[in-house]
Amino acid sequence: MSLSRMGVVGAGQMGRGIAQVLATAGLDVVLVDVDVAAAQRGLETLARALEGQVRKGKLDPDARDHIVARVCVGPDLASFGGVDMVIEAASENAALKQELFGRLDRICPPHAILASNTSSLSITALSAHTQRPDKVIGMHFMNPVPVMKLVEVIRGLPTSDDTYAAVAELAGVLGKTIVTSRDIPGFVVNRILMPLVNEACFALYEGIATAEDIDKGCVLGLNHPLGPLALMDLIGLDTTLAILEVLHRELGEDKYRPCPLLRQYVAAGWYGRKVGRGFFTYAG
Ligand code: NAD
Repeated sequence: MSLSRMGVVGAGQMGRGIAQVLATAGLDVVLVDVDVAAAQRGLETLARALEGQVRKGKLDPDARDHIVARVCVGPDLASFGGVDMVIEAASENAALKQELFGRLDRICPPHAILASNTSSLSITALSAHTQRPDKVIGMHFMNPVPVMKLVEVIRGLPTSDDTYAAVAELAGVLGKTIVTSRDIPGFVVNRILMPLVNEACFALYEGIATAEDIDKGCVLGLNHPLGPLALMDLIGLDTTLAILEVLHRELGEDKYRPCPLLRQYVAAGWYGRKVGRGFFTYAG
């Protein structure tokens, strides 16, 4: 495979997970966040996750050291001058990502592929902010990245067959299975998931049951591994709301209208696991 030097933008839960799977597959990674301290924390969290695998006997300490050594934190996007591909995993905000893609296009070598891990936003619109629209693509990992097998690959209108083939091959190298989606808001997985989790939020809002019972109903009654409220806490309530707003605005259907309770939790800063409080509370 010709991709060996990778850039990752955003060192939150997705960016650091993506950096981990890339480095585990033997690729060199530069991790950049607008908040350099967050990027450093991301690298430390990644190292802790690998340490957990060592303790369980799933990874030997030498391999862990090699993986960690393949990831470095860059001070800013200028660190991407020599990469073959960037995977952008910054916050779910259209204006922010469009501006990022314009800057990445000016900094990265002409051959580099620019991929976004966006959950809902238009890949075609991102590509229009670059001079290389054929090399822009969606590569939507699932959370937690090292655990979940699926990657959605989203072709924007101008995405070339070569770019698609390179990203499909990369997904295989990472041990992932792909599904391919047209560039329609929410793609496949979130198009289906978001109405479900939003409905769980409405059930709580309308006092139908407690948060515990809503989740228990879905775990025991629908055989879901995680209840929808706990899943929103994992995704991040801020990210969930941002995705629902895109679906509601772009597709214009009431079924995507974000629940007022979700808006209220986000307004309170109760974003879920990443801040220790969402529908449930989390120690540490
Ligand atoms: P997060 O809030 O955990 O992390 C986002 C990171 O982006 C933060 O560290 C923030 O400092 C950084 N950031 C913000 N603006 C930036 C900029 N201009 N340049 C560089 N870094 C910047 O969010 P997350 O859950 O990791 O989500 C990131 C992306 O992945 C979003 O597009 C989201 O929709 C998508 N995604 C999320 C999930 C999920 O379950 N959370 C799953 C699949 C895809």
